[in-house]
Amino acid sequence: MPDSHRVYSYTAVLMGSPILLKLFSHDEALASRVFRLIKQYEDLLTVNRAHSQVMNINHAAGQHPVAVSRPVFDLIRCAKAASQMEDSAFNLAIGPLVKRWKIGFKGDAVPPADEIAALLNITHPADVVLDEASSSVFLTRPGMEIDLGAIAKGYIADRVRDLLRKEGVELGLINLGGNIQTLGSPEGGWRVGLKKPFAEDALIGTMTVENRSVVTSGTYERYFEQNGKRYHHILNPRTGYPLDNELDSVTIVSKDSIDGDIWTTLIYGMGVEKGCAALRSRPDIEAIFVTKTKEVVISSMHHFRFTLLDDSYRITGSTV
Ligand code: FAD
Ligand code: MG
Repeated sequence: MPDSHRVYSYTAVLMGSPILLKLFSHDEALASRVFRLIKQYEDLLTVNRAHSQVMNINHAAGQHPVAVSRPVFDLIRCAKAASQMEDSAFNLAIGPLVKRWKIGFKGDAVPPADEIAALLNITHPADVVLDEASSSVFLTRPGMEIDLGAIAKGYIADRVRDLLRKEGVELGLINLGGNIQTLGSPEGGWRVGLKKPFAEDALIGTMTVENRSVVTSGTYERYFEQNGKRYHHILNPRTGYPLDNELDSVTIVSKDSIDGDIWTTLIYGMGVEKGCAALRSRPDIEAIFVTKTKEVVISSMHHFRFTLLDDSYRITGSTV
């Protein structure tokens, strides 16, 4: 039986991110299996190294299809579907622009406008051609690159949850650097902090959840400044420049973390009003917007509680 008073934390650095696993029993062996699983997915999906299944697809752009393992194929199919939703800000083929901007990596700087315009031509989701039967992916134009940075951590968080569940774990939490997935309900629920933008470890408030994922995308984690202007890592697939709107961050509370990861990007592109309107048809997905004017807008709150800690922020409900 889990001892509900004692939490054991295990940490690692994977996918360029601090990883935190919380269990209610001391189990080094299980923690190692969790970190190995994350590493296996990183090795399949990364675009930050020369070789992975996704990089094999990218290297063959404009040349030939590449057969990949079923989980990689299914994740790419899911990312393509999100990219082809109406007015979607999500684009799995954004890779050439991500690589050119290098935001959050050494050498980041604003690229010349004509280079951005040229790269936009090789970022069309429709040019990612999938073949179900052979589980293969073909990027039809030379220079194209798939980037799963906005979805892979969510997918992996769900696989960690599945492994923990299979091993009989009743209470647990995995944090993949902003992507949190939880199992069960410790006394009082899991308290997850909502970070205050550009303020190190300060919190705006906390969300309390049970059996839910909490994913945050913000402009304050990966960015650089040039001539007094800030450039963050979520790119507008239509302009090729960072998305510019009233938001500092979006947090999604959902059952599956993959939905949270996809929807943070989708909602980031929509902004507060359109985002709240879109979520009215998705009661399973709830959003917490943090605006640059220090408002916390909550689309709905059926599956979590929110506690405000910083009174320089105001909570407002959905505006639609
Ligand atoms: P999200 O908002 O969910 O996604 C933003 C990221 O998605 C961007 O960083 C970019 O990669 C991509 N993107 C930008 N605009 C769009 C768009 N419009 N549509 C779709 N995607 C977009 N970081 C390191 O520093 N070093 C590493 O070695 C490293 N390896 C990684 C390996 C894997 C398998 C993964 C999944 C991530 C890795 N990362 C690494 C982190 C990665 O570079 C991204 O910063 C991270 O995935 C962003 O996650 P997020 O939840 O903060 O942002
Ligand atoms: Mg995302």
